[in-house]
Amino acid sequence: MPRTALVTGANRGIGLEAARQLGEAGLEVVLTARDTGAGRAAAVELGARFEHLDVASDDSVRECAARLDRDRVEVDVLVNNAGVLLSGGILDVDDALVRETLEANLLGPLRTARAFMPPMLARGYGRVVNVSSGSGSLTEASPYTPAYSISKAALNMLTRQLAFAAEGRGDVKVNAMCPGWVRTDMGGGAAPRTPAEGADTIVWLATLPPDGPTNGFFRDRAPAAW
Ligand code: NAP
Repeated sequence: MPRTALVTGANRGIGLEAARQLGEAGLEVVLTARDTGAGRAAAVELGARFEHLDVASDDSVRECAARLDRDRVEVDVLVNNAGVLLSGGILDVDDALVRETLEANLLGPLRTARAFMPPMLARGYGRVVNVSSGSGSLTEASPYTPAYSISKAALNMLTRQLAFAAEGRGDVKVNAMCPGWVRTDMGGGAAPRTPAEGADTIVWLATLPPDGPTNGFFRDRAPAAW
């Protein structure tokens, strides 16, 4: 039976490309998006199932999980890709902007993990891939995009906490990754990487064999500094 992968924010950019590559790798794909029109169109193009999912909404995550449960769709792979990059200097940034960033980039992956990881732990198989960023690395820290960087640093720690929760519970792996600087709406036209290059490590982590790594941070299929 093919594994099933759910990808958040998959109507465009790296998420759309990750959904495409996961399908090409033989997985069943649940393409999710908060934008129903764009998400449905992308799902039709890929031959994937579409589900509306706004990661910033607790209700939306719970309702999506309930619909999949009702249809007996078991999510084996969770790709937390949805994210926002909002500007604002660290000393003049609005609380509202920080909250909006954390809602999508930190609480979003926490909500989806709470919805989809317990069944993985019960079945003893799962792959969770958190699409983070070098901006969230404490080692590589830079002064750019402070709210975004804080949210991705927190996402890295969330990754570790989820990996700890999966320890000794079968073949459930939780990893974070950085796609590099990618030409998308977020990355902009000057970015050197294609979405396909950015999605490669996502798919690698999503399809790791049982002896693959967990509780790690990766770029280009190699460990990166937290
Ligand atoms: P993008 O083109 O801006 O796409 C972001 C995606 O996230 C869109 O589909 C967007 O949906 C979705 N999204 C945002 N908030 C959401 C929410 N509350 N619920 C559901 N979906 C939501 O960005 P990208 O470059 O593909 O980025 C994908 C991931 O890679 C992000 O986590 C980003 O931080 C990370 N990343 C990107 C780069 C880069 O250079 N591009 C570098 C490092 C890390 P809408 O269409 O509805 O807005």
